[in-house]
Amino acid sequence: MKTLLKECSISISEAGMPELRQDPITQRWVVIAKARAKRPDDFRERPKTAGTATACPFEYGNESMTPPETMAIRPSDTTPDTPGWLVRVVPNKFPAFSTRIDGRTTGGLYVSRSAFGAHEVVIHGPDHGLTMATYPEKHVALVLKTYRQRYEYHMKQPYAGYVQIIINHGEESGASLEHSHSQIFVIPVLPEKPRALLDGASRYFDIHARCVFCDIISAELTFARRVVDESAHFLAFEPFAAQLPFETWMLPKEHKPRFEALNDNEIEDLAKIFRRTVRRFLNGLGDPPYNMYLFTAPPRYERPETMHWFMSITPKLTTPAGFEMGTGMTINSTVPEECAEFLRNVKI
Ligand SMILES: [Zn+2]
Ligand SMILES: [Zn+2]
Repeated sequence: MKTLLKECSISISEAGMPELRQDPITQRWVVIAKARAKRPDDFRERPKTAGTATACPFEYGNESMTPPETMAIRPSDTTPDTPGWLVRVVPNKFPAFSTRIDGRTTGGLYVSRSAFGAHEVVIHGPDHGLTMATYPEKHVALVLKTYRQRYEYHMKQPYAGYVQIIINHGEESGASLEHSHSQIFVIPVLPEKPRALLDGASRYFDIHARCVFCDIISAELTFARRVVDESAHFLAFEPFAAQLPFETWMLPKEHKPRFEALNDNEIEDLAKIFRRTVRRFLNGLGDPPYNMYLFTAPPRYERPETMHWFMSITPKLTTPAGFEMGTGMTINSTVPEECAEFLRNVKI
């Protein structure tokens, strides 16, 4: 066993960078990123109480603890990597996708390639105690404008197969640092889940000549019982086949394939409904850990008429077990209509 482990780790440790491997049966890609196992764990190494002795890398004065910023929203009289910023983007210190190329691609039974791409952290603000639910709405809009700017930049890169933005909030969600932040993954391949969504939406369009998401929006507005919230441009609801309790989707009511095409007015409206949704989790469910992911058209996508971007936010209240791992099917122990009613009635 020892020899086997040693042999398996040779190709990775020599290059010292993450690697993409494809499962020869299902064609699913996996990132093998050895360095990430060594990343510091905020939740265990630092006591949760305020005023701890260990410095947080995401606060004013600690800018040198992160790699140099790739962008920031900051007053023009301040300089990069110094205090004064409102939202700051830095490369992840322990990337799952690296901007270094080692050019390795292998074939045969086992297909692997270097995980060339990018992995950035969006630090939501300098205040350790605030989250997307407690920052003012205007500040949440700045974070969303940062997403838009990073999408615009990364989507143009020739190596980008997909750009994934996520938030892991809370320890059980997979976050390693407590300070509120998002992550941006620039992936050289199109992963399984976005591919399945794109294929499904294309198939629906071929049959009905309509966007499936637009049809879902009008069905949900008519049925109304799964709607959680509505703003001028967006609808928040629990999907008909919600995989997990309180899984909430937010979509633009107008057909829009790309997040980065949002104008300022729409971004401000999205900030309002997004903040309200996470406040429902905070006030109604006691600030559970949650995962947010954005689904948007991949770079150079040729069928924008079939695609409709959305944001999904799901509290982490259950842990996948043997059945879910074996079948890829989840058992949702709650009814989406009841979850929607509960969230609708939370005082925000
Ligand atoms: Zn902090
Ligand atoms: Zn649509």
